[in-house]
Amino acid sequence: MARIVMKFGGTSMAGTERIRRVAQIVRRQQAAGHEVAVVVSAMSGETDRLVNFCREAHALYDPAEYDVVVAAGEQITSGLLALHLQALGSKARSWLGWQLPVRTDDAHAKARIETIDSPALLASMAAGEIAVIPGFQGLTADERITTLGRGGSDTSAVAVAAAIKADRCDIYTDVDGVYTTDPRIVAKARKLKHVTYEEMLELASVGSKVLQTRSVSLAMKEGVRVQVLSSFIDDDAPAADTLPGTMIVSEEELAELEGLDMESQLITGIAADKNEAKVTLTRIADRPGAVAAIFGPLAGANINVDMIIQNIAKDLPETDVTFTVPAADLARVQALLAAHKDSIGYAQIIANGKVSKISVVGVGMRSHAGVAATMFKTLADRGINIQAISTSEIKVSVLIDEDETELAVRVLHTAYGLDTN
Ligand code: ADP
Ligand code: ASP
Ligand code: MG
Repeated sequence: MARIVMKFGGTSMAGTERIRRVAQIVRRQQAAGHEVAVVVSAMSGETDRLVNFCREAHALYDPAEYDVVVAAGEQITSGLLALHLQALGSKARSWLGWQLPVRTDDAHAKARIETIDSPALLASMAAGEIAVIPGFQGLTADERITTLGRGGSDTSAVAVAAAIKADRCDIYTDVDGVYTTDPRIVAKARKLKHVTYEEMLELASVGSKVLQTRSVSLAMKEGVRVQVLSSFIDDDAPAADTLPGTMIVSEEELAELEGLDMESQLITGIAADKNEAKVTLTRIADRPGAVAAIFGPLAGANINVDMIIQNIAKDLPETDVTFTVPAADLARVQALLAAHKDSIGYAQIIANGKVSKISVVGVGMRSHAGVAATMFKTLADRGINIQAISTSEIKVSVLIDEDETELAVRVLHTAYGLDTN
């Protein structure tokens, strides 16, 4: 007998038929003798709809009230799944974020889970009850509702798995695993049987939204076994532990499993992220402290700055500073920069939300030169202009015009030899 956390995303929970299907998949695991906790997302499209209501209410909405609104989508699906399970004859109940509780910090709209109280949950599971937990939501120390950032139900699932020491965390979604790139963009994308935590972490952080970044870092830290699989499976499909999804593994495990020198594989995956916006501040004084004056207020407001470039003006003691922030934070960033205009001392703010970040990821980069050069040449050959660059040990990212996203991903996928035949 194993203890399993099963997570179902928005498409899997989209309406009565889908939820009934999910209930059947869950019951199969229980029938196989496992203790099961289920983490669910809101129905697909629902969170977007709720976010829009907040935007319509107030351009600079209060993140604490935003959380109250957007956490609602998961409350509905958790109750509905419990009802469907009961209708099929199972014992099941929902456990809302505030009931467990799932304690988080107070960074509203992007809160981090601190603890999950598990004794009551475990007792109910041991008594044969299927626990249904709405993903994405938590509670601060002073009892305010929080959410974990978009895609956060993955993180809820991994955190629950860690809290109840589950043997596995199965993430059921609308694709049957992690691919070399988004299979909805590149038809020739190839499914990966295994991917290392580190690569998955990089891929997620640069836009492969199949898993939320924090879910991967948490799984890595807590040693949770994560598997990505499809909820769109036939009744006679094999059991989940032998289903051909993608398993997230350590580098050592991968070397053992695939019996290969991993670093011989140059690139594992390519990701695109259209959710960044580029901001340029012109004519900043070229002096110590100038850059700190820009990024201090942004950090204070919990805004993540990603790529940064600074252009030194030729003859003037002035520079232009360009950086990227999440597009969702752009209005807030512009307001903050305007409020700090005097202390920063810039001439103009130029904002561009029509950019896209393309990244190539692979542990093979550690030992092979030329990955970045191939990327730049491939994009140049197609006339795609690079607006900013950033790198890490196993990743190269470039910022390009949003309209060229799909083309860039496709040509890079071919250039690095990732296409299926
Ligand atoms: P869920 O609602 O189940 O959480 P998401 O929409 O968050 O599902 O994530 C699944 C989607 O991630 C897929 O439909 C796919 O389009 C996208 N995706 C992006 N990159 C990848 C990748 N490398 N491999 C698989 N899917 C990817
Ligand atoms: N419903 C939330 C979202 O759409 C969380 C999730 O689905 O993971 O972002
Ligand atoms: Mg998701």
